[in-house]
Amino acid sequence: MIDPRSSRQVTEDQVDEYGLRLVLLRPPTAAGIGAIQLRLGHTAFGEIRFSLCGHDRRAILVSVGVEEKHRRRGAGRVLVAAARARATRYHWTMLPLGEDPVTVAFWATVGAVGPQSPHPCTHQIEQGVVPAESRWTKKWW
Ligand SMILES: [Zn+2]
Repeated sequence: MIDPRSSRQVTEDQVDEYGLRLVLLRPPTAAGIGAIQLRLGHTAFGEIRFSLCGHDRRAILVSVGVEEKHRRRGAGRVLVAAARARATRYHWTMLPLGEDPVTVAFWATVGAVGPQSPHPCTHQIEQGVVPAESRWTKKWW
């Protein structure tokens, strides 16, 4: 579909009108939640949101979404590969998937990036990457 490597991802200023592009939206602050969107021209039809802490080498996958009419064509898989490509030697965890059958089926096909139990570092907690007051922000590490 599209090459997910980091080197092929573009930023907002490099978006053109017609191409299929993976567009990197950097987080506003280090360890905050950033995103990669799959866009056709200026229209985004899929997005993955995640947090990376380069200092602690932790990555947390927050969400993946693809517009319904664009599903089942590999868009979600490409987004996951694109996020992973930005943090290849990181310890990846994910927010719990819940029980939505579409979500469960998606991850069963693509393969989870890590355990469904987020393991945030202090920077990621400060940035609110995991829901506040959740059991994951307790200091059990
Ligand atoms: Zn950190």
